[in-house]
Amino acid sequence: MRILIVEDEKRLAMTLKDLLEQAGYQADMAFDGNDGLELAKSGIYDAIILDVMLPLLNGFQLLKALRSGGQMTPVLMLTARGDLADRVTGLDSGADYYLTKPFENQELLACLRTILRRQAAIVPDFLEFGDLTLNPAASQLSCGERSVALSSKELEMLTILFKNTGQFISKETLLLKVWGYDASVNANSVEAYVSFIRKKLSLLHSSVSVKVARNIGYRLEVPS
Ligand code: CA
Repeated sequence: MRILIVEDEKRLAMTLKDLLEQAGYQADMAFDGNDGLELAKSGIYDAIILDVMLPLLNGFQLLKALRSGGQMTPVLMLTARGDLADRVTGLDSGADYYLTKPFENQELLACLRTILRRQAAIVPDFLEFGDLTLNPAASQLSCGERSVALSSKELEMLTILFKNTGQFISKETLLLKVWGYDASVNANSVEAYVSFIRKKLSLLHSSVSVKVARNIGYRLEVPS
């Protein structure tokens, strides 16, 4: 699992990164609100640890921008201030959990496990878009009476596209999310799988298409 740490106190950010890596997570860091938002929007993170007091864009503003763009990555907010108003603002802007500094390492890891578990629990049995239904448990894509089986990579790519309809997902994001840091794959693999998916959409006679925007990415579209 991949966690984003947005924290301007570099020493604390490094400590958190070490802690997460020791606990078996992969972790990236951003040291201000703008960089944090850019990384968070990529959609490649399973959770975000977000400081409140940040340069350029504070944690509340970042979170609001992220949620208003439809990104539901779970967020654990950190703050030095423990007052009630902050907590309420944090929860109102869409934070999943609130932790006051200073905290114990074990406490942070426990909070992280909680929000990751909660996220896993709310994955729906079926994802729907246009005339399509995706059944992740059965690795099956259906349109009306027709169904096709999906390979594991096709399923992973489609799940990402189904969960992010309305926004383009970059080739890099798909590559990282589906293949991780496997050096043997590259952008051509994404293109190859997009063409497999297109063939299946045509087998299903679906009106949904995988739209490509050059240098931006892919998204699912229905004819308007
Ligand atoms: Ca700070």
